[in-house]
Amino acid sequence: MDREQARDYIKDQLESYLTSKGINTRKPFKCLNPAHPDKNPSMSYDRKRNKAHCFSCGADYDTLDIIGLDYGITDSGEIFKKAYELFNIDIGGGRMEHTHKNIQADV
Ligand SMILES: [Zn+2]
Repeated sequence: MDREQARDYIKDQLESYLTSKGINTRKPFKCLNPAHPDKNPSMSYDRKRNKAHCFSCGADYDTLDIIGLDYGITDSGEIFKKAYELFNIDIGGGRMEHTHKNIQADV
């Protein structure tokens, strides 16, 4: 899986990610935007676009946005790393992975 595929895969996980947070995606839920104190559930899962959209504040989130909010991560690279971890994604031959011990001498 390469990074593009991983990104699509992660976005496809939005519904299950929301469900894992205890959210029923079949009906509107409380807005996930921390800056929007949502008294009436006004966010809903948009199946066609694979996004969570708030009709009150206009927030429009994909899985990566919500992971960033949940874990307080703002750096997009770090959000990706977290998503890979959450969804057990293995990026083959990842250039950005310097921490693993898979150094090959015969490149
Ligand atoms: Zn909102």
